[in-house]
Amino acid sequence: MSGKSKLKVFISVDMEGISGIVHSSQTSRDQHDYEKGRALMVGDVNAAIEGALAHGDAEIVVADGHGWMTNIQPEDLHEAAVLVRGTPKPLSQMAGIDESFDAALFIGYHSMKGTLHGVLSHTFSGRAINSLKVNGREIGETAMNAAIAGYFGVPLVFVSGDLAITKEAEALDPKITTVAVKEAVARTAARCIHPKKARELIRRGVREALEKRDSISPFTFQPPIEVLVEYSNALMADAVEFMPTAQRVDGRTIRFVLDDYLKAFGAFRASAYIANAVT
Ligand SMILES: [Zn+2]
Repeated sequence: MSGKSKLKVFISVDMEGISGIVHSSQTSRDQHDYEKGRALMVGDVNAAIEGALAHGDAEIVVADGHGWMTNIQPEDLHEAAVLVRGTPKPLSQMAGIDESFDAALFIGYHSMKGTLHGVLSHTFSGRAINSLKVNGREIGETAMNAAIAGYFGVPLVFVSGDLAITKEAEALDPKITTVAVKEAVARTAARCIHPKKARELIRRGVREALEKRDSISPFTFQPPIEVLVEYSNALMADAVEFMPTAQRVDGRTIRFVLDDYLKAFGAFRASAYIANAVT
């Protein structure tokens, strides 16, 4: 460790993997259970912050990473943390991270599109993206964002969400500490442990994960970065093909090859905006 007195912890928060959440009625800002969903969300996040503080003195940044990214009510968040909110911003769900952080934690994350028994599974944009492959490996948001942390030399040490995302995270690195707060019985149905119990597991898990953070290597993709994106339909790919560096692979698939992971991430995100806009 460096001579820094305080640990710097970055927390990225999505909503689909939060305790008790199984349906978009809890995650969409115009729907009836949204206020309950965002209360559940901040409950899981505050448990992670408490876990970090139980480990020791910490500087904590929380990035709200779902939808419009204004789900967490600032006054409900633990006062030890600084909140990054609003969208769009260059690093999206990872906005606020840089090389000064010691560890990254993902709370409320979900599995990639098409996962068997993954609560609200999707990859970045459920409407536009069928699959995302980087350097030959199909990935979801966990690996996509772990590689942003890794770009800055920061290891992903903890992931909470449903059982499926804990398996997806452990496949990246079995040393990542995971907590399953629910187990899907279908894409929009799950057996959920009580939020109080889930928060206790998150608190304990984060503390343990920070203790062994030095044993975990940052997750990275080696340049050149090849991104293969399959969109939902050929019209979306037709529009994305106008982007500089885009290569058409087949009806629904576009390939980008870039020399830097953040540039590749930017191209992917811009393509998702274009795909969503054209239909
Ligand atoms: Zn989300």
